[in-house]
Amino acid sequence: MNQEVKSTCCYCGVGCGVLIRTDGITVQGVRGDPEHPANYGRLCTKGASLHLTAQGEGRQRHPALRPARDRQPEQVSWAQALDTAVDRFAGIIREHGPDSVAFYISGQLMTEDYYVFNKLAKGLIGTNNVDTNSRLCMSSAVAGYKQTLGADAPPCCYEDIGQAGVILIAGANPALAHPIVFRYIEDARAANPALKIIVVDPRRSETAEIADLHLPILPGSDIALFNGMLHVMLAEGLVDGDYIARHTNGFDELAGNLAEYTPQRVAGLCGIPASSIVRAARWFATQGPALSLYCQGLNQSAHGTHNNAALIHLHLATGQIGKPGAGPFSLTGQPNAMGGREVGGLANLLSAHRDLANPEHRAEVAALWGIPDVPAKPGKAAVDLFKALESGEIKAVWIACTNPAQSLPNQASVRAGLARAEFVVLQETFADTDTAAYADLLLPATGWGEKHGTVTNSERRITRVQPAVAPLGEARHDWQIVVDFARRLGRKLQNPAVDRLFPYETVESIFAEHCVTTRGRDLDISGLSYSVLEQQGPQQWPFPEGASQGQQRLYADGRFPTADGRARFIAVAHQATVEVPGKEHPLSLLSGRLRDQWHGMSRTGIVPRLFNLDDEPLLAMHPCDMRHRQLDDGDLVRLFNGRGEIVVRVASRPGLARGRVWMPMHWGSRFMNSAGVNALVGDAVDPYSQQPELKHAAVEVAKS
Ligand code: SF4
Repeated sequence: MNQEVKSTCCYCGVGCGVLIRTDGITVQGVRGDPEHPANYGRLCTKGASLHLTAQGEGRQRHPALRPARDRQPEQVSWAQALDTAVDRFAGIIREHGPDSVAFYISGQLMTEDYYVFNKLAKGLIGTNNVDTNSRLCMSSAVAGYKQTLGADAPPCCYEDIGQAGVILIAGANPALAHPIVFRYIEDARAANPALKIIVVDPRRSETAEIADLHLPILPGSDIALFNGMLHVMLAEGLVDGDYIARHTNGFDELAGNLAEYTPQRVAGLCGIPASSIVRAARWFATQGPALSLYCQGLNQSAHGTHNNAALIHLHLATGQIGKPGAGPFSLTGQPNAMGGREVGGLANLLSAHRDLANPEHRAEVAALWGIPDVPAKPGKAAVDLFKALESGEIKAVWIACTNPAQSLPNQASVRAGLARAEFVVLQETFADTDTAAYADLLLPATGWGEKHGTVTNSERRITRVQPAVAPLGEARHDWQIVVDFARRLGRKLQNPAVDRLFPYETVESIFAEHCVTTRGRDLDISGLSYSVLEQQGPQQWPFPEGASQGQQRLYADGRFPTADGRARFIAVAHQATVEVPGKEHPLSLLSGRLRDQWHGMSRTGIVPRLFNLDDEPLLAMHPCDMRHRQLDDGDLVRLFNGRGEIVVRVASRPGLARGRVWMPMHWGSRFMNSAGVNALVGDAVDPYSQQPELKHAAVEVAKS
């Protein structure tokens, strides 16, 4: 008999609730959960196709070990697989120390999976070398929030979209990348024709089509734009002096720097008319509640943290935060990048938003885990982690639920690192990602519809995910694999703490421990449990003990989680992109998402109907740039720079400014005859967030 099981969509950070229809053996259908507050029953095309990805196609069904690098993997038992992994990791740790191994995990994991990975590295092995693909996605948003507001906490909720008077969308294309959020924007526009929508994007994106004002700024000029808008607000008396005086620090220092950001100068830096900058500033400050929605266009930059801070300054200067319809709302890329941050699953973080660099925080986590200490030495963030593999400093890496051989920048270096590593473990749902070719050991993990645990979406809402069907083949839950490995490794290393560190027999017990670690922190969820989530539905954090519901908005009282309770303005100045287009490579390469594909397509790539709209990766280019190179629409072209070359078809796009080309980020060597777009992108990173500048590279295009 059919039944419906509550789960979530495993794609973007909107975090839509789904109901999986099942006969208990197979997944038979999916629909939006009408009771879930993120989507109230709506789904986009990807979410509505999820059931078509649950039929076992392309799955890794058994543990498999590669006898030699030039041989195919051979099926082994779980015991053989994990004992081999233990032998190799223990041997390397004994010979070279704990920092010679690393874990590279994913914002697609459940919070509980993330928690045990973090504990395995930092609590059992004694290395902080645990980082995640969220480093490529949200780490600049984390650093931006922390530097200005004091904590990594998006203060808004989806309901704010319908209450805003002006929405500033910067470096985001929700029409394709966060479609249900875009439906809320369309609803808001329909309900309130006076709503002003400003879109900041170097490309005339699908989202820009509904903008009242589109600002097609030069790539990387976001700080100049936001400083220019603040300059106008200050000059025209549009800032909220009372809010600034009562709730912030640092405004006078910043204001001194703003003098040079006149609309005329900023127009030159951004490549847009000065009048547009003035209009954007006036609308932001005068049209009622101001809401900002932003994503990778700000984050994936070598100055991503300051991009975020400069935008947050607009809210602090106008008091547009902590009230309905207002605030800086970072749209999360992945379904559980938030949960990973909550458990400290990055090389510089610890559980419950604690900082590794803070000795008191390290002592708190050590006490919670019952171990003498947590290592103080910072772990390696994603880009450095793979460089350390290439140099031989890190000798073994355990990769879970992500595909660095396609997604990281400077692919040649990443692949060289994977090839040089002494031992590579890949814990994955799917069998043939680009990274699988480098794996010595493949461990089959459960996938959507089989997993259980919790995830947190962009508005801090935690949802309980329930399994609808049994694991496929010999696949195991990610947390089970980690706990089994940790126990075996602990015994091998004769670590007396191992049983105390990994006592878990159920996923619920991991969540319960995570909740305890949050007590008294900004994200306190000591009042949450699986039973509360199941009975009351998805809840926003904080949800401390004694609370009856989660908190919809943060900072309504004007107090921020800083030492003195005040938010901070920080000095931010315009910086150019790391690569400046020149004679040899005169074009700016931009990249982004399509509506119907997700990341490297390991899941969406198996659903034929998701290719109906876009069946190949087209390179968008201005017709004048095409004429200059004697290219016609549909020609095969070489897109290249010093790092490599991609062969794709070119498409004329008059809406894209001259000197810029745009390509979707989904296709890798599995789906076309050359590497994906990130093979052409450099690995320069933001100094605060360590997030790489994935959104820009200098390239040239020629007929193939
Ligand atoms: Fe899934 Fe995002 Fe679409 Fe919602 S908007 S159905 S979470 S991909």
